[in-house]
Amino acid sequence: MNHERSSVLFQQAKAAIPGGVNSPVRAFKSVGADPLFIKKASGSHIFDEDGNDFIDFVGSWGPMIVGHCHPDILKAVQDTMTSGASFGAPTERETILANMVIDAVPSIEMVRMVSSGTEATMSAIRLARGFTGRDKIMKFSGCYHGHSDSLLVKAGSGMATFGVPDSPGVPADFAKLTLTAEFNSLDSVKELVAGNRDAIACIIVEPVAGNMGTVPPREGFLEGLREICTNEGIILIFDEVMSGFRVAYGGAQELFGITPDMTTLGKIIGGGLPVGAFGGKREIMEKLSPAGGIYQAGTLSGNPLAMSAGIATLKLLQQPGFYAALEAKSRAVAEGIAKAAKDADYPIYSTRVGSMFCAFFSKSAVFDWPTSSQCDTKAFAKYFLGMLDEGVYLAPSQFETAFVSAAHSDADIERTIAAAAKCFKLIA
Ligand SMILES: *Cc1c(COP(=O)(O)O)cnc(C)c1O
Repeated sequence: MNHERSSVLFQQAKAAIPGGVNSPVRAFKSVGADPLFIKKASGSHIFDEDGNDFIDFVGSWGPMIVGHCHPDILKAVQDTMTSGASFGAPTERETILANMVIDAVPSIEMVRMVSSGTEATMSAIRLARGFTGRDKIMKFSGCYHGHSDSLLVKAGSGMATFGVPDSPGVPADFAKLTLTAEFNSLDSVKELVAGNRDAIACIIVEPVAGNMGTVPPREGFLEGLREICTNEGIILIFDEVMSGFRVAYGGAQELFGITPDMTTLGKIIGGGLPVGAFGGKREIMEKLSPAGGIYQAGTLSGNPLAMSAGIATLKLLQQPGFYAALEAKSRAVAEGIAKAAKDADYPIYSTRVGSMFCAFFSKSAVFDWPTSSQCDTKAFAKYFLGMLDEGVYLAPSQFETAFVSAAHSDADIERTIAAAAKCFKLIA
């Protein structure tokens, strides 16, 4: 497969943009290759600058649940564009999308729009701190909540009491306020809560972890978090930037029947345009400026183009049978890949929740960051490059989720499984 033009464009980009990309994972570094520059996309396929055609399982890292360039979304954005891209003043569309989100997501009684998932989680945490008057927050090792200072922290080990920054530039004093527990371990949560009584403002969690591969919550984990938070006056935040409108119309909280106090959203609700949102109980949300005193703002928040794309996307998701059909496709492709690995005598650990799935290159179960981080990333890199050669575009890291869209056809799925069978035989 020819990648000549992508290589040239990458060299040019590197001179102007740090690392040649505007978000690190795009750089293909962990698989030891250069990124492909994308020219266009349609439905379940993306096309690079060299004219190669790929079945896309990245879907812009989650938003493209109906596939690329859906005609309804195209039309909505085009129509909106002709009446103005941004006003910095309220528009009716913002209330329409807000009400669609409120109707869909069990925990959300009021919602505010922002422009990215990072902004949503950062703002939700400020609100939780302002509401409770507490400074500490708790997150889980391996969960990603955007790149704001307080959240760019993981534990040195599961039981570490104080966080250490993941990046230079994050002050150690900020990181100290971030406690890190182990995903799927209520014991690790209880231990930190016991050591920090009346000091923890919120627990933020991806209810289906999607940023260390796909790691489903174990039975009782989310229930346990709900109970601990209720008992301790801690605000439970589900970060559903990825899982919202993805694993079910009402997100993971609908799927598992656990209602958090606050929820963050992004990705799908913008239909591919830059968007984020955070919402929750009315008594909490009303503390937000200008209704209350906790400040948060944005020049492009509730942007007309993003609102239109979001409304059009959610309308498509409301169609009867949408999620059942997506579930069937997703099961077929995830199970097909797992079977291909088994047939090649190279068993993987396969996980899936709805249209999020992952092939972990691990012989044992993956249920948290320590077990995920043990995966054979070298073998994954071979698999990734092999799949790319076969015309299947996966995320260039073991620790990412693959996304299935409604646009994936039976032929796409068959081709993907056949490609995987070939790749596993080569690796085994
Ligand atoms: C993608 C993601 C974010 C960050 O969203 P951006 O729009 O990239 O800032 C936050 N939380 C989760 C769970 C995500 O998957």
